[in-house]
Amino acid sequence: MVDVLVIGGGNAALCAALMAREAGASVLLLEAAPREWRGGNSMHTRNLRCMHDAPQDVLVDAYPEEEYWQDLLKVTGGLTDEALARLVIRASATCRGWMRRHGVHFQPSLSGALHTARTNAFFMGGGKALVNAYYRSAEQLGVQVRYDAPVDRIALQDGRFVAAFVGTERVAAKACVLAAGGFESNREWLREAWGQNERGEWPADNFLIRGTQYNRGTLLKFMLDAGADAIGDPTQAHMVAIDARAPLYDGGICTRIDCVSLGVVLNRDAQRFYDEGEDFWPKRYAIWGRLVAQQPGQIAWSIIDAKAVGRFMPPVFPGVKAATLPALAQQLGLDEAVFMDTLTRYNAACRGGRFDHTQLDDCHTEGLAPAKTHWARPIDTPPFFGYALRPGVTFTYLGLKTDATAAVRFGGRPSANLFVAGEMMAGNVLGKGYTAGVGMSIGTAFGRIAGTRAAAAALKEAAHAAA
Ligand SMILES: Cc1cc2nc3c(=O)[nH]c(=O)nc-3n(C[C@H](O)[C@H](O)[C@H](O)COP(=O)(O)OP(=O)(O)OC[C@H]3O[C@@H](n4cnc5c(N)ncnc54)[C@H](O)[C@@H]3O)c2cc1C
Repeated sequence: MVDVLVIGGGNAALCAALMAREAGASVLLLEAAPREWRGGNSMHTRNLRCMHDAPQDVLVDAYPEEEYWQDLLKVTGGLTDEALARLVIRASATCRGWMRRHGVHFQPSLSGALHTARTNAFFMGGGKALVNAYYRSAEQLGVQVRYDAPVDRIALQDGRFVAAFVGTERVAAKACVLAAGGFESNREWLREAWGQNERGEWPADNFLIRGTQYNRGTLLKFMLDAGADAIGDPTQAHMVAIDARAPLYDGGICTRIDCVSLGVVLNRDAQRFYDEGEDFWPKRYAIWGRLVAQQPGQIAWSIIDAKAVGRFMPPVFPGVKAATLPALAQQLGLDEAVFMDTLTRYNAACRGGRFDHTQLDDCHTEGLAPAKTHWARPIDTPPFFGYALRPGVTFTYLGLKTDATAAVRFGGRPSANLFVAGEMMAGNVLGKGYTAGVGMSIGTAFGRIAGTRAAAAALKEAAHAAA
């Protein structure tokens, strides 16, 4: 029997597997995806949010613990466990040496990457390179890896892990780490969680999934049904407005539309519905998925003119382009008269002095509802562009409640040999909201703790059996 079974094949699972192996345990990792799709959402990532008290290799200035904590407190509106959040924050200061030893390389922030040079360390080659490096290191250390191995249920006894099942195959282990992601790829579950709206629509039917199709929440559901303590709300998720032409799964980072604050956003009725210039884009990009989800048909259009071009990360698909605004309305399939009325009223309401996209400038609208409070400039310079937007789910926050040992808990009691990491428990730290790079901080911190604890539990049991 293997000492530690790790279920999942993304960042959290790999961190757990590597730590357990380094602690002397034999380790088997079961990844639901085939080898070519291994790595879950982690393969789409770009960076890790890191605390640091002084400049470090790829990170400028300082990003102290207190500032990181305040950022997290603000975005979650207090829906976070301070002790666990601080544990993640402190771990982010020290994990990169270990990551480097397993082949992960870092590079400075790219321009256009949400102003993150101070706070976020970028992975050279992105999350795909990180995942590949970890698999390479795991295999060299003797971790057994099996692909196409979705676990569908678990045998538990009095809160202890006994075995996992891949179909009819039973895989026993002395300890186990659950790191099988959220349920964002389970469209039926999303449908159930979001329900039907006042227009009779099922909003989740129009969601796109930014990452892997393998995070179906099978084990999350199993564990919740089995009585594991839960954390978080099923409707809370990281949701971004993405290009409506993105594929249903795995569109990744390049389908994000980053020009919202440079123009206006209209719904299917050609009406504006929110302040596009409320705050810097890095602080607002993650609310637009939910805003679009609340609009009729769960669709919206980001409209810009030639002045905006070159000021945002260009998305992978070019926008719909037109020489005049009426022509753009026609090409986008929006009511031309209403579209022109909305744009004319917006253009006439723009006030203010000097446009500066790097500051909360004084270009704003007057007498318009909703207002655009910064970067409001008339949309008057051809060519004009329109990008259709859909809600893109990054990951869900409903998870298993845990503590500083990463143990799964039943009725408030920690399991002796079952641990959890990554998206499956991120809701302990992120009750709602998001700050870029914290997903990988949580997965790395808790993956490493879970792996260490699982190895200790397994080796203790082995010693006990030998005595
Ligand atoms: C497009 C995109 C960009 C992102 N960018 C960033 C970023 O730059 N920085 C950041 O911090 N976060 C980012 N995130 C969020 C980040 O991806 C997650 O927080 C993090 O990867 C979670 O790691 P994980 O190991 O828990 O989950 P995942 O990496 O998703 O891994 C889950 C694994 O479990 C496997 N699995 C699922 N069910 C089963 C089962 N039943 N049996 C066996 N295996 C199973 C899956 O195949 C997968 O390998 C991004 C997400 C997306 C989608």
